[in-house]
Amino acid sequence: MSGDTKGQVMGNYGQRAVNMVRGEGVYLYDDRGRAYLDFTAGIAVVNLGHAHPEVTRAIAEQAGTLVHCSNLYGIPLQQSLASKLALQSGGHLNRAFFCNSGAEANEAAMKLARKYAARTENESLPLRTKLVSLPGAFHGRTFGALSITPKPLYHAGYQPLVPNCVTPDTLDGVLAEIDETTAACFVEIVQGEGGLRPLESAYLQEIQAKCRKVGALLVVDEVQTGIGRTGTFFAYSQVGLEPDIVTLAKGLGNGVPIGALLATQHVADAFLPGSHGSTFGGNPLAMAAANQVVDVVSKESFLAHVRTMGEYLSDLLQKRFTGVAGRGLMWGFDVDDAKAFVAAALDAGVLLTAVGDKRVRVVPPLIIEEADIVEFEQRLQNVQA
Ligand SMILES: *Cc1c(COP(=O)(O)O)cnc(C)c1O
Repeated sequence: MSGDTKGQVMGNYGQRAVNMVRGEGVYLYDDRGRAYLDFTAGIAVVNLGHAHPEVTRAIAEQAGTLVHCSNLYGIPLQQSLASKLALQSGGHLNRAFFCNSGAEANEAAMKLARKYAARTENESLPLRTKLVSLPGAFHGRTFGALSITPKPLYHAGYQPLVPNCVTPDTLDGVLAEIDETTAACFVEIVQGEGGLRPLESAYLQEIQAKCRKVGALLVVDEVQTGIGRTGTFFAYSQVGLEPDIVTLAKGLGNGVPIGALLATQHVADAFLPGSHGSTFGGNPLAMAAANQVVDVVSKESFLAHVRTMGEYLSDLLQKRFTGVAGRGLMWGFDVDDAKAFVAAALDAGVLLTAVGDKRVRVVPPLIIEEADIVEFEQRLQNVQA
């Protein structure tokens, strides 16, 4: 009833059930003071919980120091963040470009893949411009990212999209599609928006092998799975991949808008001065938040906590629901009617999201404790699956 859809804000998000005005830890509070257990974490963004003291301090201090100066000038906090992220990749992804969202990170990856191919083009080979993605993928809503996101509802009314983006209907079809004309293949380790579906390690390794064989780049979209969400800093390390490019966003700023493109030095060298850019990207405010987030999340004890809580949560989900799948603290399960289930959960004081007609996603803040999971279970007790 108190939703804010009336007025001058566009209607593209539809009706919202409640207005949120405050957050603390794993709880969100609406404009009537009601508390909700936030197991959406702002769509896998607020990994350290709402109003995390150290991130809040970092943002506040930076806001009083320097918010923005543009990329006309060097920003030391970009250097420190890039080196922290490189370290988490074992030194492999030792170049970073900063932007403002997941879609922007994937746009940058699409451009870098084409630029890299254009620079290394062998004239005896056909033009290498094809970008391949997987059935069920989600990479964002801008024209480029949308072109590698095979969801008819999201495409309706926007054609033509970016040429030479191909998404086969089957996983085998993807392997067949990767050939000498392919610039890159984009994969997620666990498909988030596409129904919370983990992909098998063996399959992902086959994709990597095919990319290597034909000289295409492997891009892992870790916008949702990255920054500790699946129990390791990057999810790709759990499935034995060594990507050429990784994209990040959601959890990286704990709510401050940010995106990042990581690449090996060899691939990143295709971006020359003027090749790409962003006014806001890498601004000191976002960099201060992300530096603090990475300092917290990269601690082995923190990641071990995510794995422990993940096991506890998945055991509990498995006792009650079918189709439970995921990694770390990123889980999905089946219900008869996901929209109805999510609405009933909200009434019961638990925030969840639907990722399909019959699929529900659980992505709590990574700081949850056992008691929060028990509370989650109790609040959902009378919600019909
Ligand atoms: C959310 C998401 C995106 C898009 O991120 P935005 O910040 O909304 O542009 C891209 N890829 C994946 C895997 C995502 O989950």
